[in-house]
Formats: sequence, C-alpha cells, structure tokens
Amino acid sequence: MSCMKKLKFAMIMFMAILLTLSTIPASPAAAAKAASGYIVSPKQVYTYDIMVRDLQALSERYPGLIATGSIGTSEYGRELWHIDVGKGPAIILLNGSHHAREWITTILLMTMADRYALAYVQNAKWGAYSVRDLLDQVTFRFVPMVNPDGVTLQQKGLAAFPKAERAKLLKMNGGSANFKRWKANAKGIDLNRQYPVDWEGIRNPAPGPSYMNYKGAKPMQAKETQAMIEFTRSSGAELAVAYHSSGEILYWNYKTPAEHLSRDRKIANQYASMTGYRLVKPSANPSGGGFTDWFISQFGRPGLTPELARAAGGTNVPLSEWERIWKQHRNTGWMLAAEAAELWLNRQQAVKVNESVRLTADERSYQWPNLKSRKLELLYKGRYTALREKGGWLEIATANGIRWIPSRMALKGEYQQPASLYVAPGPETEMFDSPLSPQPASLQLADQTVQVLESWREWFMIKTSKGVLWIRQEEATQAKTADAGSVPHPD
Ligand SMILES: [Zn+2]
Repeated sequence: MSCMKKLKFAMIMFMAILLTLSTIPASPAAAAKAASGYIVSPKQVYTYDIMVRDLQALSERYPGLIATGSIGTSEYGRELWHIDVGKGPAIILLNGSHHAREWITTILLMTMADRYALAYVQNAKWGAYSVRDLLDQVTFRFVPMVNPDGVTLQQKGLAAFPKAERAKLLKMNGGSANFKRWKANAKGIDLNRQYPVDWEGIRNPAPGPSYMNYKGAKPMQAKETQAMIEFTRSSGAELAVAYHSSGEILYWNYKTPAEHLSRDRKIANQYASMTGYRLVKPSANPSGGGFTDWFISQFGRPGLTPELARAAGGTNVPLSEWERIWKQHRNTGWMLAAEAAELWLNRQQAVKVNESVRLTADERSYQWPNLKSRKLELLYKGRYTALREKGGWLEIATANGIRWIPSRMALKGEYQQPASLYVAPGPETEMFDSPLSPQPASLQLADQTVQVLESWREWFMIKTSKGVLWIRQEEATQAKTADAGSVPHPD
C-alpha cells in the first residue's frame, strides 16, 4: 500500500466509523423503535418470496393486529396473499401490482402494513389523531401483489418459468428475452382490463395475449381478477385504492354520479395535497375494465388510482424513487382511515343502551361519534352511564353534558362489587391496567393481600400499592379470613 493509498484507506475507515455512529439512535424513543425494528426493507427488488417471508414475520410479530390469508391462486398456482392491519369494522381495500412491472406499489403497501402496525404498538399520533383510535375503527385490507406471476417474470425472466412455457412467453413478449416491460399476468392478460365494467369498449386492445394491453377473451377470465372480485365483494370496503406506476397523477372519477362528486373529490383533493399528485380530469367517455372503474361503478363508493413515481418509461420504477414515494405517502393511509371511519359511521344507527360502563383508560371525549368532530375534555377512568352506542362509540352522560368516546377501553355488561373479598396475587400473577389491554402491565408487585373492588367476567379489579389493576380470577388465590388482619386498609 502506498502512502496515498494508506491515507485513503484511513479516511474511508474514519468515514465508516462516522456513519456507524450516526445510525445509533439519539433518543430513548428512537432506541425503542430500533429495538422493535421494522420488518419490511423497501429498497430492494421486492420479489414474491420476500413478500411471503415478510407477511409471515408480520403476522407473527403482531398477533391480534395483523392477519394474513390467501384470496385465491394465480394462473401458475401462487397464493394471492392479503394482509389485514387494524381492528376496526370500517374497511379500506388497498391493492398493488395488478401490472407486473409496477411492483414498487407492493413495496409501498408492505411498508405501510409494517410501519402502521408499529405505530399502533407505539401509540403514535398522526396530527390530532391517535393511531390506536384510527386502527380500532378501521381495518386496512392490503392485497400487495395481485399479479405475482407477472412480477416474477418481470424480475427474473424466463428462468423462473417451466421450460415448456418459455416459447409462449417469448412470443407474447414480441420475441424479446428482456421482460422488463411486462405488465400482464403470465398468460398475457392485462389484469386491469379484466373487470366487468364497460369491458366491451376498452380502447387500444392488443389483438391477443401479450406483455401488455390484452383484455382477455371475456371479463373476469384471469384467476387473479376472479379472486380480487370475490375478495372485494366480501370485504364491504368503504373505499379502495389500486396503486399503479408511474406519473404522479391520481385518477378518482369513473362516471361518478353527481351525488357522490363532492364526497369523492374531497378525498382526492386531500390525497393530492399530501402527495403533490395531479388529479386527472374526469373524461366523459373513459376506457373501462379497471379495478377502481369497477369498484366505483359497482359499489358507489370512492376509488382512487394513484400512479406512483415520476415517469419511468415502459419499465419498473427505479428504487432511487423510493424515498420520494414514501415521503409523499407515509401518512396518506391515516387520512384514508379517517375518511373510511366517517363513511362507515354515517351508515350506522345509534342504539339505546342505558347501562353502566367502566372506562379502564382515560379517554378524550368528542362532541359527536366521529374523530373529526370537536375534541372535548378527558373523561377519567371510572364508572359512567352510557346512553347510546353507535359504531365503536359510546354516548356518555357527564356532569358537563353529553359526550361521545371511542368504546375501545370501556367494559360493558354485568359486574359485581363484592362487599369484602380479599385475594393474594402470587409473584407469577399477571397484572393488567385493563382487561382490554393487549399486554400485562410491566410491574412487579410484592406479596400482598389486596381487596377486590369489582369483578367483571373472569376478571378481578384490585386495589394494590401500585394503584388499581386487573388480574384473572383463576390466577388469584382467595386470602384466608385469618389474614384479614394484615389487609391494608383501603384508603
Ligand atoms: Zn398499471
């Protein structure tokens, strides 16, 4: 090594050390984040196999919050996976990679699933919203890769397909062994020209199976489209987004009737202002057959089709666009969640309940059963009278008047207040802040005999030296009457 080379080497090492240091999280919050970690790593050629591995890891890390499943199989027998994130009744359907070369959309959806689940666990905020409130009212249903055969062909070429199929694939690709421009499924059908809406009149059709633009011999011919239609019908989604690339534009209207225009335009405008995307002007005679064309026509609900990234030409979006895409989209899901929650709620009836409920967490109250309505004071833990229920909300009578709260942390139904019941939780007894808490409270309780203040279902609410906590009845041994002398006097 020459002197110059040594110097260069030392410089590189120094830079490397600096880089390592700069990735050490600065705050305890950042440290917690790094420790819990992200699962999805977005800046890579994101294959079907990587997606399947990530889906598995996500469903294992977030039981109760994330669920995965298959909605059918592709023409080549790959499972078409969906991943649900959230606990709410209002459904948002997000899908990507109808078109093979547009797999950056899969990266966006998988990243959203990953980051949103972690935001829930961390009790993060989006503006004035609590992520927990949103995901308790909404469930995201992602189909991150509608066309796994096509994506695999686009990424890996002929080698990933059986020898017997290769001549056909080559022919559909105009004889070229370069599959980077491939959009269709691996049977040469364009999956976004397959939906049963104005299918006959689709413009610029390819005459037969092709890498792009062939609409098939009939609508719903492709197995992938069939699976999507069935899944969408059974989901009852409030709104749907089909992600494509590229161009940084947003389609939001498909022959949308006048009575839905302002509702849908409002959502599209919010999306546009968050991403900087340009709204595509509605056409009087659009070419149909697309997923959102069908969704809007079939259900009369909002459907968006964003084209991610700056113009990429006839191939996949380069990974260098990723940061830009994520910066534009990181919070769009929360906006959609707030909209979906409102749409869902508008269709619910308020039901009279008139019963006592216990709030097991302090809750922000609202003027109406709607996260977008005026925020009012905190209601502290304790017993209240619920007058009505609507969606996931309770109408509560307070000294200040009528308030609405999300019912997430409210215990409903029968309860008892035993006059004098004492139990002795053991060191192994799990303590909870609420029977509705997802995890036990992380605290140690010295051996003590405690009073049961209330019992609800299989739970005891107990008064301890660390405050009011909940334990499962089966884990509590009843203290002997003889021990009553050592019982701390309730204060
Ligand atoms: Zn597309």
